[in-house]
Amino acid sequence: MTSTAAGVVVVGGGQAGFSVVSTLRASGYDGPVTVFAAEPHLPYQRPPLSKKAHVEADGIRVELVPETFYRERDIELRIGDAVVALDTAAATVVTRAGEHFSYGHLVLATGARNRPLPVPGADLAGVHALRSFDDALTIGRALATVRTVVVVGGGFIGLELARVARARGADVTVVELADRLLSRAVSAQLEARLRERHERAGVRILTGTAVQALQGSGRVERVATSQGVLPADLVVYGIGAVPRDELAREAGLAVQDGVVVDEQLRSVSDPRVSAVGDCARHPHPHADGLVRLESVQNAIDQGALVGRRIAAGSPAPYESLPWFWSDQGDVKLQIVGLRSASDEVRLVPGDSPERLAAYAFRDDRLVAVETLNWPAEHLAARRLLERGTPVSNGDLAGTTLGALARARRAVEVRT
Ligand code: ADP
Repeated sequence: MTSTAAGVVVVGGGQAGFSVVSTLRASGYDGPVTVFAAEPHLPYQRPPLSKKAHVEADGIRVELVPETFYRERDIELRIGDAVVALDTAAATVVTRAGEHFSYGHLVLATGARNRPLPVPGADLAGVHALRSFDDALTIGRALATVRTVVVVGGGFIGLELARVARARGADVTVVELADRLLSRAVSAQLEARLRERHERAGVRILTGTAVQALQGSGRVERVATSQGVLPADLVVYGIGAVPRDELAREAGLAVQDGVVVDEQLRSVSDPRVSAVGDCARHPHPHADGLVRLESVQNAIDQGALVGRRIAAGSPAPYESLPWFWSDQGDVKLQIVGLRSASDEVRLVPGDSPERLAAYAFRDDRLVAVETLNWPAEHLAARRLLERGTPVSNGDLAGTTLGALARARRAVEVRT
């Protein structure tokens, strides 16, 4: 069976795919728009799943918009319909049911999948990873009945889940392979303070510790680690994500841990294909070389950029300032900018004990800011970095970004 609908076809019904199609219509595109969404749900928000929704996920609605949104805009939403192959020469995608579906432009918004836990016993009952709404339901229900939880991976998902489990009264141990938490995205300086807060909340943290096996008869009962054996009624793991780039790879498009795209987010191999969100590897003015960013901000902004480009034919480079947040119990961690390992980092206390910021400088220019429980400072950092006005370490001597932004605004008003 072959359907011809040479409009825009989006593969992926997550935040990035939704952003593409809502922007297309908001920007006046009136051709056919079709979204293939493999999960059996309307497009939904993922961030709440690891932060709170799964605590009582049955009762929480996480859909981005109701079904009527798509109908009113003539967006064909193919829920539960997965694309399994791509033929760029014929400009068609092939669905699991064997349908060949033509596109004028194709947008890959396929996201990422969890990196599997590479140890024996990972398939025992009571071992879960979190990505989908259905995973959140499963973990939420399990948390109602367990006493001892082992979290494998001290990254964003792991720490968010550790605090949720702790808030529900579980005895929680985080097992992290690296010698510190959050080594991918947070400075060592801020991480040390964050770790203290999690330990104060009763989370046990083992860094530099390898999981060797999950053990139990049918159901997990123990986690064997390089620091000894831990009892466990439930194991959740969050050890990073792998982009879902296989459609592009199998179609012969350039792929390098993500679909390689240009600054307009078009495949470098085929201008009729774009990629957005977690699955895209792209240039960014704040990065050396190509980056792949896993954040809601990136998914929304990239989807919008591609939607506008297709609707209006206006080419614009992707240069949104990256920002991110993670709610870990009573700690709100926020990050803006892209820090690299060689940047100089300075910790700055806030005006109350729970507030803290880390400023990262490259060649004496502020490039990134991490904050704990200090949303106003995060917002000030976003405003300053967005404007591109240089801020040096000296500019911030004895002051904060919030105060600096206020002072600069006052000068602008006077002049
Ligand atoms: P996620 O989005 O899944 O939280 P992150 O990259 O933020 O991803 O965090 C993943 C964490 O898991 C990192 O701190 C990484 O060092 C850790 N990790 C990776 N592999 C293992 C492993 N086998 N055992 C324990 N921790 C691991």
